[in-house]
Amino acid sequence: MKKILLIHTGGTFGMVPSHPNKILKPGSFQNEVLTRVPELQKLAAIDVAIPFNLDSSDIAGEEWDILGRLIFENLDDYDGFVVIHGTDTMVYTAAALSFSLSNLPKPVVLTGSQRPLSKLRSDARFNLIDAVELATMEIPEVMIVFGGHVLRGNRAKKISVTRYEAFDTPNFPHLGEIGLHIEIKKQHLQSPDKSMAFFPGFRQQVAVISAQPGFAPDYHIPLLHSDLKAFILLGFGSGNLPARSFDWTPFVKEATQNGKPVFIGSHSPHGRIDLNLYECARRAMEAGAVGLGEMTYEAAYVKLQKILVKSTKMDDIIALMEQNWAGEK
Ligand code: ASP
Repeated sequence: MKKILLIHTGGTFGMVPSHPNKILKPGSFQNEVLTRVPELQKLAAIDVAIPFNLDSSDIAGEEWDILGRLIFENLDDYDGFVVIHGTDTMVYTAAALSFSLSNLPKPVVLTGSQRPLSKLRSDARFNLIDAVELATMEIPEVMIVFGGHVLRGNRAKKISVTRYEAFDTPNFPHLGEIGLHIEIKKQHLQSPDKSMAFFPGFRQQVAVISAQPGFAPDYHIPLLHSDLKAFILLGFGSGNLPARSFDWTPFVKEATQNGKPVFIGSHSPHGRIDLNLYECARRAMEAGAVGLGEMTYEAAYVKLQKILVKSTKMDDIIALMEQNWAGEK
């Protein structure tokens, strides 16, 4: 029988409504899960680890490293890993794990739920069964399995706070669908060709800034004089920015002249950034900005934090962002 390490990190999934902050011990969590979802025992031999129990809004670099290390150190002992995680920042953790565990040979499946496992009509049960079954398969990806969809983690976005189909990968095909059968689209899977390595570390000196019609970029100028090392600027459509009275060009110019790269993303979740299409984006590009292509800004934000551990030189940062590390672009 396959062996799975089930890592519980918090979120709605395991919430006990009367004691939302209660920290469950691995033993009692395992009993609770196996009592409510006894079918799991038919799928795999399951061990449980609870490295922390947090609302996912409080999960960032430190926790990403704890998880990465936990998976790396247990890689030889398990066939796959399931990470139960709050939905709010699940895509950031998925991206972080995909960048930390490079050339990952085994499945790491993140899941969670919109309703706690203990509640009627909870989606936790199905998501967990799906995730554990996926983790027994030979899929070398960090995935999000949720609402019947199998998604590449670093391409995913949370698209709903209420629907059971809470995630999607707007710029990448689904890796699979779970209905009567599990259908995996093998042509979309990665195939690691080197030996696996664990790269810990994230440097939290990246800002994501949202451009809005009629909001003066000058308010953001103080950020250029802070210790931030890179910026992601979310524009409109294919990466367009106001360029008349609320012109972003001076911001981009000052940042890049000071060796701080500016990457342009979009508020629009689907489609490619193309800074050549419109004059207002071209001006930002001429001032030194670089488009994110098809990368989500969430994955780009995490990737930049990792890149800054390697180098803070603008040319290095841009070159490393251009590389495809784990199917994120
Ligand atoms: N606030 C919760 C979290 O992300 C929501 C959830 O789990 O769905 O931790």
